[in-house]
Amino acid sequence: MSLVRVIGAGLAGCEAAWQAARRGVDVELYEMKPGSHTPAHKTDGMAELVCSNSLRSNEVSNAVGLLKEEMRRSSSLIMEAADKTRVPAGSALAVDRRAFSDYITDKIRSHGRITVYEREVTEIPDDGTVTVIATGPLTSDALSDWIGETLGLSKLHFFDAAAPIVDGGTIDYDRAFFASRYGRGEPTDYLNLPMTKEEYDAFYDALVSARVAELHGEDGGLTVFEGCMPVEVMAARGRDTLRFGPMKPVGLTVPSTGREAYAVVQLRREDEAGTMYNLVGFQTHLAFPEQKRVFGMIPGLAEAEFLRYGVMHRNTYINSPGVLSRTYSLRSRPRLYFAGQMTGVEGYVESAASGLYAGINAARRALGMDELILPVETMTGAMGAYVETGGLSGDFQPMNANFGIIAPLDYKVRGGKRARGAEYAKRALEIIDKMKGEGLI
Ligand SMILES: Cc1cc2nc3c(=O)[nH]c(=O)nc-3n(C[C@H](O)[C@H](O)[C@H](O)COP(=O)(O)OP(=O)(O)OC[C@H]3O[C@@H](n4cnc5c(N)ncnc54)[C@H](O)[C@@H]3O)c2cc1C
Repeated sequence: MSLVRVIGAGLAGCEAAWQAARRGVDVELYEMKPGSHTPAHKTDGMAELVCSNSLRSNEVSNAVGLLKEEMRRSSSLIMEAADKTRVPAGSALAVDRRAFSDYITDKIRSHGRITVYEREVTEIPDDGTVTVIATGPLTSDALSDWIGETLGLSKLHFFDAAAPIVDGGTIDYDRAFFASRYGRGEPTDYLNLPMTKEEYDAFYDALVSARVAELHGEDGGLTVFEGCMPVEVMAARGRDTLRFGPMKPVGLTVPSTGREAYAVVQLRREDEAGTMYNLVGFQTHLAFPEQKRVFGMIPGLAEAEFLRYGVMHRNTYINSPGVLSRTYSLRSRPRLYFAGQMTGVEGYVESAASGLYAGINAARRALGMDELILPVETMTGAMGAYVETGGLSGDFQPMNANFGIIAPLDYKVRGGKRARGAEYAKRALEIIDKMKGEGLI
């Protein structure tokens, strides 16, 4: 009997379990919920999205869009669920987070080869069973200590923040208008809250002087990840920074004036029905009462009920270069794989993609087959190579999918970034299709 053990039923773990089971391997999937939750996980379902409900761009000429398409063509469970539970969000792929998690939970639980164990894993026995550790950036303390002490892996960390969610029924719609920036996507995708200069100035002054929550037990060296920077940290960089960032008014005409506003806050639907809205780009570390006070100054949100306040969390990952191979297996113990955010990939889709790559190879190893190496001309393969080598800078940082890490094209492309992205995508998808045709993925 061939067996793979997967620890953590998050985005990477579910994808790894699925890919292994698809290859005829029995899978034991361990998840500590519902008995225990990380500070960011709130539900008992699998593949819970802890912050935004967006899986970002869906266009293949964009790096994360390409990664998604490679995954679709590799029979990814995460992508199947995302496509089935999609909510309108312009050219981005956003999902109804509850339906997304339910879909994956059902598929995993009803798969004949996957057995789910609801318990925290604190160490991995060295019994020869191929194992994938996919316990995420908030891995429980006991397992995190075991990884550091027993495997001798040094860990790095940064801080990540989540945006608040408000009840759609408590927004003042007289102060809001539906529109997608530059008319891309459906007009109902985003609810926009325009501000005058006076409103913006008052809001800005309140934001930069608001009280932040305390971080407990931290070492003071607060490193925030640029891609998920708290709105108050961004605001502190200058009075107009937000107007060029999450509050930019361009491409949005206010129906009542026929002009652009001075600043705009965008809300994105969290569910199909529009009962919940996420404040786009408003990840924050303000104390909860301060969030209510300061964000309540945004026109339309004076009476808003916060269903979830923004929070900030430590985000831990392994210093992977030289330690993990490009298939995410541990060099010193190759039957042990890592997957997800803890390997140094950054983002929901990237985490799931590493689970896909690790899951394929964990199954192959359990079956006594050679590992499958995905070429660096594919985004999935390029992410694995980045984790193996750490890129050129020598300063290993969590990495989103981007065309800077994929093998360069050996010819010039006219027409700018988008045209070049389309060429990368064409090349990558041809490789994926060929491998699929050969029964490899
Ligand atoms: C606060 C926060 C906000 C984020 N926001 C975004 C965002 O908006 N967009 C984005 O693209 N990315 C975001 N990320 C980054 C990243 O994409 C997510 O963390 C993503 O969920 C990582 O996927 P994963 O599979 O590696 O881990 P997770 O999805 O976290 O899955 C890990 C699973 O392992 C379980 N587990 C943990 N320890 C144990 C144990 N010892 N035994 C058994 N089970 C265990 C957990 O309960 C969980 O179910 C955010 C991260 C954090 C921390």
